[in-house]
Amino acid sequence: MQFAQVIGQSALKSRLIGAFREGRIAHALMFLGPEGSGNLALALAFAQYIACPNKSESDSCGTCPTCKKIDTHQFADLHYTFPFFNKSEGSEKTTCNDWLAPWRNHLKSSPYTTVDDWRNEITEDNKQLIMSVYEAANIMQHLTLKSYEGGYKFQIIWMAEYLKTDTANKLLKIVEEPPEKTIFLFVASSLENILQTILSRVQVVYVPKIEDQDIHDALLAQNCAPDKAAEIAHFAHGDWNKALQLLNSQNPDETYAKQFQQWMRMCYKKDVTGIIKWSDEMHKLNREDQKHFLSYALDQIRQNLVLNYAGEDFVRLNSSEKSFSDKFAPFINDLNAQELMEEITEAYHDVTRNAYTKLVLSDLSFKLHYLLTRKSEA
Ligand SMILES: [Zn+2]
Repeated sequence: MQFAQVIGQSALKSRLIGAFREGRIAHALMFLGPEGSGNLALALAFAQYIACPNKSESDSCGTCPTCKKIDTHQFADLHYTFPFFNKSEGSEKTTCNDWLAPWRNHLKSSPYTTVDDWRNEITEDNKQLIMSVYEAANIMQHLTLKSYEGGYKFQIIWMAEYLKTDTANKLLKIVEEPPEKTIFLFVASSLENILQTILSRVQVVYVPKIEDQDIHDALLAQNCAPDKAAEIAHFAHGDWNKALQLLNSQNPDETYAKQFQQWMRMCYKKDVTGIIKWSDEMHKLNREDQKHFLSYALDQIRQNLVLNYAGEDFVRLNSSEKSFSDKFAPFINDLNAQELMEEITEAYHDVTRNAYTKLVLSDLSFKLHYLLTRKSEA
């Protein structure tokens, strides 16, 4: 991957290149950035930049055999460690070597991948992913061997959050004093889940969210219509993975629309199991997404109220929202509309104030059930 293929992040790219050209690169770096920011993509582009024999002042060449091998994840001196699970009962000695083929395929299609996407790729059950102590031995073995290609060796450790004490302890020495021309590129999303022993041995490269404008431009480059690009850039909130998901859905609001409709049905029926499960899913999203969803929900309640009283000429609903609302609007009326909106607004503020989302949303769902099923007292 060339730097040119990494979305946005131009200031960070220049800083990395500058530091390398001035010989100021640590032998262990950690690309720390939120999901969809391109932390892994940047680590890959950086490794390619360092390894490329024909690099320019701003990028690797992208065409030499080294670049091509790195690009197709076949470069013998670039090693990957990532979370995985033991292939079967009693196969505790599983390492990343056993997962390399699916990993390479996954990476080719989505260098902005998340740990959830990767898990979904390799298992249908919600199996717990690990980085076992055997993987530490695997890393040591790779890195103590001579370089195949005669240049730098790279060890990418994606989702360094998964390094637990046992595995990390076995790596501390080699991270601190790696063999000659060896660079560790850790990639992580959340600082609080990284062991201090690892953190103290790396130079942290903070990867910010991607600028909306850069997401917008990258979408235009994929032939997305300007209006849609602007809308997606707004909802994606600096997360390219999310932007792609929205791009591939029919309408940027569609993901929210489906969730909202499903949620309203659960609230109406007081589907307790469904509500708990849904609150749990929502809890896993980042706060910005949770807030986006709640403001979407608030808007839908408002639109349904208008639809109910003023008719469809006065509402802004797409076709999927419209067909749901034709049935749902009668439930939003002068008995409950005001309170429904107040409750959702309050939940929005609770989420903003870092309240425990799971609790806020399950609580909200039961309040909505009461309001949606309230009958006129007359
Ligand atoms: Zn090259």
